[in-house]
Amino acid sequence: MKSNFHRPPSIVHRRIVALAGGVGGAKLAHGLAQILPPEDLTVIVNTGDDFEHLGLYICPDLDTVCYTLAGLANPKTGWGRANESWQAISNIERLGGPNWFRLGDQDFATHIERTRRIKEGQCLSEITRDFCKAWGIKHTILPMSDNPVRTIVETDEGDLAFQEYFVHRRCEPRVKGFRFNGIEKAEAAPGAREAIQSADAIIICPSNPWVSIAPILAVPGLRSKMEAKKVVAISPIIGGQAVKGPAAKMYRELGIEPSALAVAKQYEGLATDFALDKIDSHLEAEIRSLNMRTLVTKTLMKNVKDRRRLAEDVLHFIGTAS
Ligand code: GDP
Repeated sequence: MKSNFHRPPSIVHRRIVALAGGVGGAKLAHGLAQILPPEDLTVIVNTGDDFEHLGLYICPDLDTVCYTLAGLANPKTGWGRANESWQAISNIERLGGPNWFRLGDQDFATHIERTRRIKEGQCLSEITRDFCKAWGIKHTILPMSDNPVRTIVETDEGDLAFQEYFVHRRCEPRVKGFRFNGIEKAEAAPGAREAIQSADAIIICPSNPWVSIAPILAVPGLRSKMEAKKVVAISPIIGGQAVKGPAAKMYRELGIEPSALAVAKQYEGLATDFALDKIDSHLEAEIRSLNMRTLVTKTLMKNVKDRRRLAEDVLHFIGTAS
């Protein structure tokens, strides 16, 4: 799964910033990393679903993106490590400890070492940079912020911390809204604003718009830096459904019909370009009426080849005249 940064001659030189959550974001970021040389790709990752658990500082989206770009990810789950063992969590369970958040042994090592460094006063972006180096990742991966931001899901059963809703409660409670605690005081991670400033285009990966992309856009100063830029969003909703996770359910519970059009409307005023799946081509005209250029393509990434192909399609699209 190692990247070889092979940029086809038909794709012109572009500096790209990709905004990503976990699973959907990591897949497209991996496709982009296969094409773009390291100096041309920065991935800014959501940290709103970070949390402290078992005394450890866990960054699910950041780790998914890093493991995926390093070729260490579990291809079946889309999260965690490949060839994982589960001794530690089984033993915690046996001792009566919490077992609802599954952490593999190799994954534990990441969280233990990150927590040790955070307790020493180091910041998340610095730790991530060193981990990337150790894992052989050449592209830049940045947490959206070094300051803690915590996504709260407002539900009919009260407010739930994101992982409590997502993993422990399996997204069952009905969603009423979202809050990103700490966002007002959060500063963009060092290098994030500069990367956006010098980027030729921003790619909003097919990640959950409510809980993966919205927190990144809410970090003070990030969205405003994107406003004069070419911004292309890829729909995580295909044929009215999410490929994985609660995105479609969230739209429905918020009274919105889940569709590529609903995603496009959410990015109206920010996205200049929008990629939707072929099976949603009937929505193209309406999306164009939002003042966005459209790319209709196959957006489902079932394997590594699909990731690269979608990344190529999007980069070609960015390179075509507006
Ligand atoms: P999470 O934090 O792990 O939930 O990760 P993301 O927010 O990055 O990814 C979840 C979103 O990715 C869901 O809304 C999925 O519909 C979307 N997604 C996952 N795989 C694909 C894919 O292959 N193609 C597209 N278009 N969307 C995908």
